Amino acid sequence: MVSENVMEPEKMLSGDLKLEAGREKFEINLTIPADPVKPQRILPVLQKFTNQVVERGIQRSNEAGKPISCKAACGACCRQPLLISEAEVYNLSDVIESMPPERKQTIKQRFRQGHDHFERIDWFNRFDEMSEIARTTGSEESKQQFINLISEYMEQQIACPFLEAESCSIYEDRPLICREYLVTSPAENCVSPKPETIAKMPISVKPSKAFSMLAKTEDSKDPSSLLLIRLIEFAEAHTEKFEEKSGPAWMEGFFNLITNRSEPASTEKAAEAPG
Ligand code: SF4
Repeated sequence: MVSENVMEPEKMLSGDLKLEAGREKFEINLTIPADPVKPQRILPVLQKFTNQVVERGIQRSNEAGKPISCKAACGACCRQPLLISEAEVYNLSDVIESMPPERKQTIKQRFRQGHDHFERIDWFNRFDEMSEIARTTGSEESKQQFINLISEYMEQQIACPFLEAESCSIYEDRPLICREYLVTSPAENCVSPKPETIAKMPISVKPSKAFSMLAKTEDSKDPSSLLLIRLIEFAEAHTEKFEEKSGPAWMEGFFNLITNRSEPASTEKAAEAPG
């Protein structure tokens, strides 16, 4: 007798959520796994929500007569040190692993070269030391030194390994923090960015920050460990240790971090959907 392994379709929940954050109200349609999952599994929903938050930022910017200067084929901001969430490290590592062999090798090589360069100039250790000093003293001097360190990173002109022809080659999968970056100052200022020459449109909530806080383990206690350029090194050095929670539990934690005034989903229905 032949036994067959039949995969059960993943049970999904969908519903509408109304959220008030700062001066803005959002209505979001969510479809999330009903059963316990790793935090990476709720990323598509968070990406969708972040896109909505950013759309509002663009709208406000236009209304204020300060249109966003970011445009296609301008990757100037992709040469800065970006901190991503631990869950996104594993998610992007999977994205790389799913690439065709040649491409995977190219991307991994770029990561290694970038990482080795910053290791050689001792940038990661200095970043961790400065983060600690800035956190504990909060002094103006430490903040300035921190800014200098960020400028030093950008002066190296080492692009994110996913940047190709000045465009993001993983656009649909790009980290939440990359979505949140809205510049209103002239695009040419971004070639050599300084705090005094770059103006950004603030967004009402920071999904990237909330998700970083929500999905975090002991493995990422050093601030520099979650720099995008260290992604491969981190994923290879650690075994992913996230607990599993149901989709609604992850979303509740996320929206509680975004704002304490989130409402539960107003309509909720179970639906069968492919994973
Ligand atoms: S992931 Fe994409 S958008 Fe983000 S820094 Fe890299 S190339 Fe730029």
